[in-house]
Amino acid sequence: MATLLISDLHLHPGAPEVTEGFLDWLEERACGCDALYILGDFFEAWIGDDLLDLAGQDPSGNADLALRVARALRRLADDGTALYLMHGNRDFLLGERFAAEASATLLPDPSVVELGGARVLLMHGDSLCTLDADYQAFREKARNPLWQAQVLSMPLDQRIALARQLREQSGEANSNKAEDIMDVTPDEVARVMTEHEVTTLIHGHTHRPAVHELVVGDAPAWRYVLGDWQPERGWEIVVTDNGEPELREFPLGG
Ligand code: MN
Repeated sequence: MATLLISDLHLHPGAPEVTEGFLDWLEERACGCDALYILGDFFEAWIGDDLLDLAGQDPSGNADLALRVARALRRLADDGTALYLMHGNRDFLLGERFAAEASATLLPDPSVVELGGARVLLMHGDSLCTLDADYQAFREKARNPLWQAQVLSMPLDQRIALARQLREQSGEANSNKAEDIMDVTPDEVARVMTEHEVTTLIHGHTHRPAVHELVVGDAPAWRYVLGDWQPERGWEIVVTDNGEPELREFPLGG
């Protein structure tokens, strides 16, 4: 039996290959697994769970996509796979209604879980990029329940406009930022791993899939970074009983 972890699918109607590839992957790969963890940026954007009310009448296709994905996740859960969703910086407004629709559990960022007989720290990864002060300031604001309640009370079309504006700002800002600012800060990685008393960290966000060997305190430690999904390929981490996490790239579609 195995546990699978994925992140950064950035699902949206403009990339149907990724959606179809993911739905195939769910049926062919994830089916029968003990658990599936989705570590954030599952959706390219999420403007509120009431998007689901628009299924069948949303010309953008976002509502139908969300409902289809939720139902596919629910089928997996009905077959016995435990499903966990963590927020990313794109889909941090994903709420309990979507989670219930998908039969999934929302997982706080960070969370420590037991995988393969070891305690493992799971994060999306954006909070580790501490050199990006502008983003961290936005993150603090956007994770405030009051700010979220205010945004969620706006009409859907205003929220769609706001989400687009935030994405464009982020795209503009990121193209002007140095490479190391966009990556995790090593000291912050060591700090959170020490705080949570783990030697294994799994996260996504940076789109820099890799297995990093570290020393935290005086002990060997490992940081696994999931990759982002593209029309032609996906990334997963698989953990089998008493096994070490294994990062895998695989073709999508075809
Ligand atoms: Mn992200």
